Amino acid sequence: MNSKTRIAVVGAGVVGLSCALWLQRKGFEVILIDPDDPGAGTSSGNACTIAEYGCIPVNSPDLFRRLPSLLFSSDSPLSMDLGYVLSHPAWMIEFLLNCREHKVDRIIRLLGKLLAKVYDGLDPLIEMANARDLLAQRGFMHVYRDQREFEAAKSSNQKRRAQGSSFVELERGDIEELEPNLKFPFQRGLLFDSISHVLDPLALSQRYFECFQQNEGQYLRQRALEVVHGEGSVQIRLDNGSSIEAERVVIAAGAFSKSIEGIPTKLLKLDTERGYHVQYSNMQHLLKRPVSWHHAGFYATPMNRGLRFAGTVEIAGYRKPMNPRIIDYLTRKSREMLELPEKPDQEWLGFRPTCPDALPVIGFSTVSEFIIYAFGHHHLGLTLSGITGKLVAELANGEDPSHNITPFSPRRFL
Ligand SMILES: Cc1cc2nc3c(=O)[nH]c(=O)nc-3n(C[C@H](O)[C@H](O)[C@H](O)COP(=O)(O)OP(=O)(O)OC[C@H]3O[C@@H](n4cnc5c(N)ncnc54)[C@H](O)[C@@H]3O)c2cc1C
Repeated sequence: MNSKTRIAVVGAGVVGLSCALWLQRKGFEVILIDPDDPGAGTSSGNACTIAEYGCIPVNSPDLFRRLPSLLFSSDSPLSMDLGYVLSHPAWMIEFLLNCREHKVDRIIRLLGKLLAKVYDGLDPLIEMANARDLLAQRGFMHVYRDQREFEAAKSSNQKRRAQGSSFVELERGDIEELEPNLKFPFQRGLLFDSISHVLDPLALSQRYFECFQQNEGQYLRQRALEVVHGEGSVQIRLDNGSSIEAERVVIAAGAFSKSIEGIPTKLLKLDTERGYHVQYSNMQHLLKRPVSWHHAGFYATPMNRGLRFAGTVEIAGYRKPMNPRIIDYLTRKSREMLELPEKPDQEWLGFRPTCPDALPVIGFSTVSEFIIYAFGHHHLGLTLSGITGKLVAELANGEDPSHNITPFSPRRFL
């Protein structure tokens, strides 16, 4: 394929933007399609961490035992809308099947290997978009309330270490020294010293978008309704009634990728793990680095816009409004952790794109090599955006991908 080839990227979240920039680096002419502001969706409200250590999926053999208490406790970071789950059973069944130990170990190995390549994809984009000021390398901390919580996470943490994650164990005194404003007596912790976080994920996407436009990228503020592949090209039908033609299309519409006609939705088993944040303006000075209260299922991240408490998992589909119980939970827990005002300044809901096997979908569509998929990055989309863009651009350019993407192919669902 020559360098004048026109490629459309559907979805301008951090994954779509990263694909667009990497495609431009390879010399392609790129059209980006999104009805909303670039980066303003799920990519804007996350916990900001470049989670190279994040190879442990939500899927866990332990989940079967913990599920009832997680679901029915008002003090739980996990919730489900039973009506939604019963009317969409396929994802949940597959998710539970992927909680078996050998499956989880496979996911950990595959994610671990991909996570080792994060900066191969991210660094060139940060340089290209002149965005180094939006990254802070201040490390990351997991904290545990007591020895029991710490022991419960021990086996996962050993697996993390086996994947190359480097961290030191902390006692209460170490935690107090590192983060003196934490008010809850956390007895144990882990410090991942080399981890970076993004100081403003929306600003990062905006920087990427400016760079995309400077490189003569074209932006269509439209929703893609349908993708139709033909001989040597793809038609993308838009919601203003027009269509555009491109030699290839990259589907990077996050959790919404399955709503585009022409994408074999049932096969892909993509759904969403809804996640929330509450944010306190001008409180970022309280922490030096992102701190995850592991058992409570969220991160506290100091960022340019304030102190953000982001996490939780809610299985309730795309349509339900924000769940006030989860906002209450995050507000209560954040105030147990640090001295904060009674009410946060911002409440937010986002839609993680998640396949039941906790692996992203990166590769040619099962129906056509003119369609490339780049979605399903669940809890790791910010982290894996750069490497996904790199792999997609290599595929589009007819190169052998620099990382084995066979396990991420949509063919795995066939
Ligand atoms: C609470 C929370 C905390 C998180 N913390 C982290 C973290 O610390 N580190 C990390 O790496 N990840 C984290 N994540 C995950 C990460 O935010 C997501 O994986 C990532 O944002 C997904 O990016 P995306 O570009 O695939 O999707 P999105 O950001 O959802 O972007 C998809 C885009 O596609 C557009 N779109 C949708 N339908 C169409 C259509 N038909 N046509 C055209 N465009 C369309 C949308 O408008 C949107 O702009 C977190 C997520 C949540 C919810």
